[in-house]
Amino acid sequence: MRAAALSFFAACVVGALPPPPAFHLPGDVVPGKYTVELNIDPRRDAFTGSMQIEVNILKPASVIWLNGKNLIPESTASVVNGSAHMDAAVQVVNDEFIAISLPGSYTGRSTISLRYRGILDDKAVVGAYRRQVEGEWYVYTTFTPIEARRVFPCFDELRLKAPWEISIRTPRGEKAFSNGRETTETDEPDGTKLIRFAATAPLPTELVAFAVGPFDVYQARSLGETPMRVITPKGHGAEGKAAAEAAVNLLPKLEAYTGIPYPFGKLDHLALADAGFAAVENPGLIVYLAKELLIAPGTENRENTRAVRFLEAHEMGHQWFGDMVTQADWNDVWLSEAFATWISEKMMDQEEAAGRTHLSAIATRERIMGVDASPKTHPVRADVNSREESLSIYNRIAYDKGSSVLLMLEGWLGEEKFRDALRSYLRDHRFANASTRDLGDELKRATGTDTAPVLHSFLDVTGIPQVRGQIQCDRSNRLILRQTGAAAIPVCYRGDGVSQTCELMDGPSREVALSSCPSWIYLNSGGTGYYRVAWDAKPLAALPIEKLTPAERLTLAYDLRARKTAAARLVLARLQSDEQPEIAETARDALK
Ligand SMILES: [Zn+2]
Repeated sequence: MRAAALSFFAACVVGALPPPPAFHLPGDVVPGKYTVELNIDPRRDAFTGSMQIEVNILKPASVIWLNGKNLIPESTASVVNGSAHMDAAVQVVNDEFIAISLPGSYTGRSTISLRYRGILDDKAVVGAYRRQVEGEWYVYTTFTPIEARRVFPCFDELRLKAPWEISIRTPRGEKAFSNGRETTETDEPDGTKLIRFAATAPLPTELVAFAVGPFDVYQARSLGETPMRVITPKGHGAEGKAAAEAAVNLLPKLEAYTGIPYPFGKLDHLALADAGFAAVENPGLIVYLAKELLIAPGTENRENTRAVRFLEAHEMGHQWFGDMVTQADWNDVWLSEAFATWISEKMMDQEEAAGRTHLSAIATRERIMGVDASPKTHPVRADVNSREESLSIYNRIAYDKGSSVLLMLEGWLGEEKFRDALRSYLRDHRFANASTRDLGDELKRATGTDTAPVLHSFLDVTGIPQVRGQIQCDRSNRLILRQTGAAAIPVCYRGDGVSQTCELMDGPSREVALSSCPSWIYLNSGGTGYYRVAWDAKPLAALPIEKLTPAERLTLAYDLRARKTAAARLVLARLQSDEQPEIAETARDALK
């Protein structure tokens, strides 16, 4: 039925279209605001929608390209451009684009009004889809990364952010949620009701969201200006308690770190019966797989409540990193995922004893180093120029190597300076977009240090640099650093009579003058660097293990495990009885 309908609409178009974009929209028409009304009955496998899209045509155009997939638009849209009111032919092209053909060439502000139909699949986990839970039907959405086009004709590009004003008409027994706060609910004559949501801040299409169904709502303790709720399938409201408590605990910590109050008004956490991701950070309406968010009353324990907080910390961290400031293109998805991963570790560290800071992040780094050392690895940053390439952008390298690079930058530049740089990065790009270069510029402005070579070495290049150090105290006291490759590595060290110092190594070797001749030096101080230290027998034997921090000892254990020399085995044997369980376990595993 759909195929027949598509060819019918195609036949209505008069005149030949120019070729469609290859993947990215041309950017010469930009959205100003979307106003949408959807008719959704979760028991039905299709929906209808009507939209007004305010756009600005930046250079003369007779065709406006939108994205659209599995949508059946009506054959004509009406377009208003200044005093001109016109009918425009609507054509589906390659099932990724919708062409709006104007009767002439136009520029400037215009409003496109169009109607369409779409599907609510009960198998897929993309676009808007349905699932039945205990006999009741629910509609959920997942638009990440390029699936909003399955529900709205839209500019489905990260850099084309715009506010969304959404209304949903649904049978009266249902509830509906979206990114914005509900403003009105009006009964309509045909047994339906119309729920209107407040216009959002500018959002990328992939983070627009809604849900419809007979949900239960667990109200979190009210906290300042931000109402928070956990939304569960009917009859499961009490299972949202731990998630609600976690959200109340985390929000002020994130506000304190970023220095910016929560930017999206209300914050709901909604449990999905099925999804392709564990969670998606939609502003104001974060969605999670139910099993990742809900805990049955009486079964809460340290591990399962911590897991909920950890995941929420990631998704709530995104409200600033990714949602408020969005990467301009998918090649910089790390600006969203790495920051959310890194800040969730920071939030969880606040629950740990001070000495345990970074242990979890260092373990994450070690796991991703295993991937990054393999020939199958790929850089953190990679271009996305097709639907196929878009499917692999949310991969562990972007999350975990990216977050390990942030840990290294923080260790190198200093915690406070790094935080201040991030605060200005967030402020300067608030509700807009940013790139890796923008981040580099902010870091340089705030700290005076040019991080660009380091960002390039670790984000655009694969593999783990290896660093060696040698103390020489013959004609003068100095530390000679060597690496196998040519990466720009911030190497931080400290030792006997040497306070923590960081040097940027940007060639195969570097000599650093020391004021005294230290009996030992530890070559990844703070344990924050994304590199391996290749320990020679003599400097390793001189290391006073008891003077290293837990983060340094864990890093040392991993480095020694990677290169198990006889000298390494001696130190690993001592680390087997470390007071921190991760360190003792790593040493024991290494010696097996
Ligand atoms: Zn994420």
